[in-house]
Amino acid sequence: MDTQLAVIGAGPGGYAAAFLAADLGMEVTLIDARARLGGVCLLQGCIPSKALLYVAKTMADARHLADWGVSYSEPTIDLDAVRGKKQKVIDMLTGGLGQLAKRRKVKVIQARATFQDSSTLHLESTGHLESTGDGQLQDDCLRFQHCILATGSSPTQIPALDLPTGRVMDSTAALALADVPQTLLVIGGGYIGLELGTVYNALGSRVAVVEMTDGLLPGADRNLVKPLAKRLEEQFEAVYLGTKVVAMADRQDAVEVTFEGPSVAAGEEAKRFDRVLVAVGRRPNSPGLGLENTSVRIDAQGFVTVDETQRTADAKIMAIGDVAGEPMLAHKASHQGKVAVEVLTGKATAFEPAAIPAVVFTDPEIAWAGLTEEQAKVQGRQVAVAKFPWAASGRAQAVGRTEGLTKWLVDPQTDCVLGCGIVGPGAGDLISEAVLAIEGGATVEDITTAIHPHPTFSETLAAAAEVHQGLATDLYRPKRRR
Ligand code: FAD
Repeated sequence: MDTQLAVIGAGPGGYAAAFLAADLGMEVTLIDARARLGGVCLLQGCIPSKALLYVAKTMADARHLADWGVSYSEPTIDLDAVRGKKQKVIDMLTGGLGQLAKRRKVKVIQARATFQDSSTLHLESTGHLESTGDGQLQDDCLRFQHCILATGSSPTQIPALDLPTGRVMDSTAALALADVPQTLLVIGGGYIGLELGTVYNALGSRVAVVEMTDGLLPGADRNLVKPLAKRLEEQFEAVYLGTKVVAMADRQDAVEVTFEGPSVAAGEEAKRFDRVLVAVGRRPNSPGLGLENTSVRIDAQGFVTVDETQRTADAKIMAIGDVAGEPMLAHKASHQGKVAVEVLTGKATAFEPAAIPAVVFTDPEIAWAGLTEEQAKVQGRQVAVAKFPWAASGRAQAVGRTEGLTKWLVDPQTDCVLGCGIVGPGAGDLISEAVLAIEGGATVEDITTAIHPHPTFSETLAAAAEVHQGLATDLYRPKRRR
């Protein structure tokens, strides 16, 4: 078999690349070991987690109505129905991708691909030829003119703590929602651990989180994390910071976990949990691909090394998405996929974003884009920081969610916006305005002269920009300059 473009991996990176390439006239073969299109994001990540977080948020909002004198009785949860609805969402979207592939005449092969050399893949069938529908794989070799590697990432294990028990889950097992344990320990205070901890907590589990560093969401802006941490400390049974799990033992009816760290009181080092979720990060799927048979290089963390055009060190092979480096996010993967295809079709383009948005879909949500204060400090770069607390927002007061904050990082010389951070309900949707502003090289004045609708959370973006100008009418702050 021969193909003009082979794409390995049908996640948000791979399918975006395959579909755009077909739209631009290339003959494309899309290979994935799974039976269905969508990759981790659709099948085991972004979408199922957000479907379950929708349930959690709606339940929390209903409870919050008690502040307005509206109370409901405790909800009854039909777990089969929750699971079924989540599955329906996945089925609908993955089915849609299958249709989109078929209409574009993208050949979809269900197989595990490994490189024999720089222009040949070995395919080990894991199913049927889906889109052509004409049966088993005819040949186990696929020669390509170009290849885009989009094999994604997998959950990091903690080998020393590996327990042969169904009580220890990774994010995939947690999203399967086999049951709702009475007690759940989440190891890892990153976004996946906090999102899934929020889901299980809403469904009835008593959740504890243990994080090795001294704050939740390591790497995120502390001003943004603070309101979330406060809320989670109220909702969760315990949040152990600066604490390590040093041992886990199967006690048949529970997992006994031993902690080490300053937040652990003497005599309370060992605690029992019905389930443990290990969410300590993800590693790129670069091993086992036969990359040693090509000129592709990988770095110390296992990421495939690419240049700004997504080319690897092998002239015929490009790489995108989680396997090609941080941040491991779906929208970064799709964007890189599009860049790679445009490069292949001769367009002078590169992956050089000024702002890749990141969103934590907890309640409140946290979102940021562009330069962070921490990065500015590391780079020794001077920035002005302007913050608008949501307590001064009419909309936040109206819905009783005043804990939010919107902040801009501004270049003091040019007044251009360099970065933005938001914490509050809906922050993930609000951040797009900041991405557009940063990418477009907008100044603070560009933000303040754009009229924002009232009363909305989006006004806080304009208000924070006004704070920078010393002109915020919803706050009293000494003027910065005029
Ligand atoms: P993937 O989606 O990982 O897809 C790679 C595909 O390659 C897989 O289908 C795999 O089967 C296939 N593959 C691998 N090796 C081979 C091979 N040798 N042969 C054939 N096929 C192969 N990101 C966000 O932006 N927003 C979110 O809200 C979000 N939530 C998440 C929640 C969870 C619980 C998890 C786990 C992740 C979440 N992510 C989120 C991250 C997001 O899922 C990834 O960044 C995204 O899926 C990466 O896309 P990708 O195309 O690089 O690879």
